[in-house]
Amino acid sequence: MSYVDEVIELVTKKNADQPEFLQAVKEVLESLRPVVDANEERYRKEAVLERITEPDRQIMFRVPWVDDKGNVQVNRGFRVQFNNAIGPYKGGLRLHPSVNLGIIKFLGFEQIFKNSLTSLPIGGGKGGSDFDPKGKSDREIMAFCQSFMTELCKYIGADTDVPAGDIGTGAREIGFMFGQYKKIRGMYEGVLTGKGLSYGGSLARTEATGYGLLYLTEEMLKCNGIDIAGKTVCVSGSGNVAIYATQKAQQLGAKVVTVSDSTGWIYDPEGIDVALLKEVKEVKRARLTEYAAARSSAQYHEGRGVWSIKCDIALPCATQNELLLEDAKQLVENGCKAVAEGANMPTTLEATEYLQKNGVLFAPGKAANAGGVATSALEMSQNSERLSWSFEEVDSKLKGIMVNIFHNLDDAAKRYGKEGDYVAGANIAGFEKVVDAMLAQGVC
Ligand code: GLU
Repeated sequence: MSYVDEVIELVTKKNADQPEFLQAVKEVLESLRPVVDANEERYRKEAVLERITEPDRQIMFRVPWVDDKGNVQVNRGFRVQFNNAIGPYKGGLRLHPSVNLGIIKFLGFEQIFKNSLTSLPIGGGKGGSDFDPKGKSDREIMAFCQSFMTELCKYIGADTDVPAGDIGTGAREIGFMFGQYKKIRGMYEGVLTGKGLSYGGSLARTEATGYGLLYLTEEMLKCNGIDIAGKTVCVSGSGNVAIYATQKAQQLGAKVVTVSDSTGWIYDPEGIDVALLKEVKEVKRARLTEYAAARSSAQYHEGRGVWSIKCDIALPCATQNELLLEDAKQLVENGCKAVAEGANMPTTLEATEYLQKNGVLFAPGKAANAGGVATSALEMSQNSERLSWSFEEVDSKLKGIMVNIFHNLDDAAKRYGKEGDYVAGANIAGFEKVVDAMLAQGVC
């Protein structure tokens, strides 16, 4: 049996109850076959794949907090410190009822390769809680965040592990967590990224994931002879990534016609009104029905359906496994030319394969959405030198990083005879650097 198959079998046996983690591991290891086969003896002896699929440590803890009625609520908190071969653990905190250990492990595992692709010195980690921020008052959010950080603060630090935002964790939550860290540890340091501008945050961090997604997509299209201007784009989601992806797509001359949330989706043939979307989602924290109510060109539909709309480019920016095989078939039938993942693993394995087999350019999340964490690393640099850079400086660095990521993965794919397979290219390019560092550092 090949080394890759052996390890897939082992990881499957050890983590049978973690389907998302297994999905992420299988996707990465399958596409690493050519690299692993070429180094099989050494990698097997050094247990490279067993080591990279087992987190350095996984921390789980109780998060008790008091709700507005005076009742005590209990959530489960997580931090998975996956791999720090190339830098301190780095990755967001997801607050969503679907969070469990398997979800955090899949996200942490992806983060290792994503962070490596940025070319910046950051290792892979992820955390969060099954806490549901929906419908909670500001006071309840603060109570949760303070309790969460009371435990988490024992394990993190500016040179150890630097958490950030993810689904459910935005500027408000990062602010409450930063305040609590400072109070308990008595240290003013860049322990979190995505901070507010008045206390160490970076300009352009808010926009970075969405903008970065478009910078990489634009480069991928350009290298394949396609101009993004004038194209029709379908976006899913309506959170931070979706909002700034929509904004940048429009700046580049494309027309975004859809967005979605957990209960329904919008088709707006005139093009999404970003200012209105921001007002509904960032200020009012309301449902998309409010967007439809305020705009006559918008149609609101219950349930899911974004991928049924004809488009040239699809940008899944909501959550994992939201673009299924049937959606991929529909996109191909409608003439879609490119899919770039703004979310983490939004496309199922079968859907990815179908898109690639049918000639759709496919940019995986670990490359396409790396702009967020890359700009987090720029925030860490600014914190270390106690300076702040201008919006233009950060944005132009971000653009350079995303263009560089695309060429790195394009080259890696070509080197292993997989031209145009950007999934393989991203996994290979991300893996090579981490493995080199792991081997150099011995058995640890
Ligand atoms: N949650 C984001 C991601 O999935 C950003 C992480 C960070 O900035 O550390 O990459």
